[in-house]
Amino acid sequence: MSIAGNINDLKKETESIGITLIAVSKTKSNDEVMEAYNAGQRLFGENMVQELVEKYESLPKDIQWHLIGHLQSNKVKYIAPFVTMIQSVDSLKLLQEIDKYGQKNNRVIDCLLQVHIADEETKFGLDFDEAIELLRADEFAAMKHIRIRGLMGIATNTENEKQIKEEFYELKTFFDGIKQSFFRKETSFDTLSMGMSSDYKIAIEQGSNMVRLGSTIFGQRVIKHWKNN
Ligand SMILES: *Cc1c(COP(=O)(O)O)cnc(C)c1O
Repeated sequence: MSIAGNINDLKKETESIGITLIAVSKTKSNDEVMEAYNAGQRLFGENMVQELVEKYESLPKDIQWHLIGHLQSNKVKYIAPFVTMIQSVDSLKLLQEIDKYGQKNNRVIDCLLQVHIADEETKFGLDFDEAIELLRADEFAAMKHIRIRGLMGIATNTENEKQIKEEFYELKTFFDGIKQSFFRKETSFDTLSMGMSSDYKIAIEQGSNMVRLGSTIFGQRVIKHWKNN
């Protein structure tokens, strides 16, 4: 199947039921991104700042770029002028930096809190109690140039579907609780980003409304970038 064909199929599968499709283009060439773009895709996800900036500069300006990988505070300035959403917020300190550069760029930057649900040490993200602590912080209440749109999570990389299902179920339950406790009046808290190529069908069953798909669209990635995930 071609990239364009994959986009068409996946758009039908997701957008018809209100799920937003992020095409994860990390390690993929501009030509490959353009094939997806020409099939109508406008939302793309990258996990590294430098690659994101390079693609932003050389590709059409109506692409909406999502950062989905770990972000170091000292790199926020490079993406703050243009990034559509930062899905990988995992500390108050990082959020403060995003707020600072939102202000410098005279904009409000949409963010998701990345919540740690996997049974693996290596995945970034806030634990449930850390996420609550962040939302209760006075520093958070004072921020005017970020907007928390929801949560993002990555399930354990395992064949065990029951485990994946439970992790997504926990995140959905947490999402509903956070919405109720902290964002009851804010309709913009509406995004639950969970599901990648290997598990997006389970994620959708469990209430995801944003999936991040790379290899299902573009084919397998070369090994060199995996260690940076
Ligand atoms: C790479 C990546 C994806 C996409 O992975 P695939 O398995 O290729 O679909 C999704 N989310 C994050 C955070 C990633 O780093």
